[in-house]
Amino acid sequence: PADVEVLGKSSWTLLHSIAAKYPEKPDTKRQQDLKQFLTLFGSFYPCWFCGEDFEKYIKKHEPKVETQDSFGKWLCEAHNEVNVKLGKPKFDCNLWKKRWKDGWEE
Ligand code: FAD
Repeated sequence: PADVEVLGKSSWTLLHSIAAKYPEKPDTKRQQDLKQFLTLFGSFYPCWFCGEDFEKYIKKHEPKVETQDSFGKWLCEAHNEVNVKLGKPKFDCNLWKKRWKDGWEE
């Protein structure tokens, strides 16, 4: 697979794993830090047009960092936006925790 794909798959793994380990009830500082992290992640993302679109998405759809589940679902929706853009099927966001917290083999 091309670099963008290898990079993409590992990056989504990192991001969804961060959601899976994010606190159920994060304090305000943690919530602010996560928002900042996402913006910086977009701006340093080594596929520039991907990162740029991600930053735009964040500006339009504010990250829901209040709880672990709200963030997991927000991230799933952000990922689905890219899936649609690339003609890939949408993922059922009710299953995000099953996929990324409990884990399943593909
Ligand atoms: P991936 O989309 O990488 O997904 C990996 C696994 O995550 C899947 O096998 C599935 O089990 C699970 N999954 C799928 N959808 C979801 C979801 N919605 N929520 C939770 N889990 C899910 N590529 C481009 O060509 N153009 C772009 O503009 C672009 N922008 C990107 C922006 C970001 C921020 C990132 C991280 C990646 C971007 N990519 C882009 C890469 C692209 O999204 C894919 O990672 C890449 O095409 C490889 O796809 P894949 O089929 O291996 O599965």
